[in-house]
Amino acid sequence: MENDKDSACLERAHVHSLEVLQKQSIPVLPESSRLEDARSTLLRNIPEHGLGIAQTTAHLLQDIAPALNASSLSPTYYGFVVGGVTPAARVADSLVSTYDQTPTIHLPDQTVASNVEDKALRLLMDLLRFDQSSWSGVFSTGATASNVLGLACGREYILNERIKSRLGPDSEERVGSLGLLQACRIAGVEGIDILTTMAHSSLFKASSILGLGRNCVHDVGTSDGCVTFDLQKLEQHLKSGHHNNASIVVISCGEVNTGFFATHNLADVQALRTLCDKYGAWLHVDGAFGLFTRILDGLPEFETVAQGARGLTLADSIAGDGHKLLNVPYDCGFFLCRHPSIAPQVFQNPNAAYLNTKNAATDMIQSALNVGIENSRRFRGLPVYATLTAYGRQGYADMLKRQVRFARAVAAYLFVHADFELLPSDIFRDRVRIDQDIFIIVLFKAKNEALNNTLAKRINASSKMYVSGTVWDNCPASRIAVSNWQVDPDRDINVVRTVLEDVLSACSKESSET
Ligand SMILES: *Cc1c(COP(=O)(O)O)cnc(C)c1O
Repeated sequence: MENDKDSACLERAHVHSLEVLQKQSIPVLPESSRLEDARSTLLRNIPEHGLGIAQTTAHLLQDIAPALNASSLSPTYYGFVVGGVTPAARVADSLVSTYDQTPTIHLPDQTVASNVEDKALRLLMDLLRFDQSSWSGVFSTGATASNVLGLACGREYILNERIKSRLGPDSEERVGSLGLLQACRIAGVEGIDILTTMAHSSLFKASSILGLGRNCVHDVGTSDGCVTFDLQKLEQHLKSGHHNNASIVVISCGEVNTGFFATHNLADVQALRTLCDKYGAWLHVDGAFGLFTRILDGLPEFETVAQGARGLTLADSIAGDGHKLLNVPYDCGFFLCRHPSIAPQVFQNPNAAYLNTKNAATDMIQSALNVGIENSRRFRGLPVYATLTAYGRQGYADMLKRQVRFARAVAAYLFVHADFELLPSDIFRDRVRIDQDIFIIVLFKAKNEALNNTLAKRINASSKMYVSGTVWDNCPASRIAVSNWQVDPDRDINVVRTVLEDVLSACSKESSET
């Protein structure tokens, strides 16, 4: 049990958190001197005798905390796609740390944790309009891990199907037991192709982790550098590799630089499904943030972006992120799959009877440790359960509407501005496209090249807002990703305007002085 001193320190940390959370506005980045100071205070070696909890708490609150950025705390931090944390998710997350239990083994007589995670996944499926009886799921650390899960299940499926067609349907040989090399030999497969468009970097990473290799990821997009599939190119790949190779097709549901979608309606996904069925390919979706447009389905204002995630129930597996648009704390991703028998073939812990606690007679809950990567992990379903319970379908629709409307307001401001260019410029030649195509990402550059080279840096130096510096068409570009539930379009557009106008006037002042 904790003593008074421990409790006092815990309380100090809580008070600090409450103070930070109640601030009206918070700089998006710490002062650089703070960073230097904090680094100089970090211990180099394990202390022989610990400093004690009081001194350690002071170190955390006085040295380290002021040197953290406000990526999740500030509604005007637009770097990466970081998400925020809803108040209900934060409440749950503090309980997660207090109780510190792993929900991965289903122990119905001992804890309700695995039931909560099961329900959290079901509520999430409900929010995203996936039929709970057709899909199963598991929480992961994020979309990267969920892409690993998707490619692992895809690899298992496509090779097992080949093995069955060679050795007969009763063959018990499986990739999960044979290993990739042996399975490919038996299946007569010489290579695996991952066919996609403008894939997120994590897909290449997942391919490498799984022994498929980054080089097996092929872009089959249309030649205009768009995220749209070139179906002919895709079919050529599937066809030419059909005898020696096996394929996984991946839909980029939300491309990370533009927020655009690889498919634009149900028919697009149906066409992919037909090709995958014809050539025995697995269809995976990287929907880290794009999946959430399904919340806005049916609303005319968001029709085009919602169409980008329509038809995904035809896929075999789906990766999504909780710590982005769901606004739960890191680290939370989720994985949905339409073939419940595949994941256990990959992730089953063999020969561990004590881990087999499922009671088929009383419930259908699968222990997460046999369908996901980790055996033990954080109870990350609790914040998901809490936030969905607290805000419901309408609450999430309202949060997302505000975020999309704000992104569109920023895009509209940039579009008419004489000194900025909204990207991709060939798409946004027409103002109307802003209110159709913009989801939560706004890509832009300054027309003045010298300014553009330092634009992201100058914006971020304001510490009032943060954008990601990126590259588009071999040119530096700035990228705004809106992903925090706290976004207030009317309030925040003024921050964006002020910061950008200040950057412009500082720049023109500099050039008139030189
Ligand atoms: C963020 C993102 C990922 C990686 O997600 P993590 O949560 O960082 O693991 C994968 N795909 C897309 C499209 C993303 O936006």
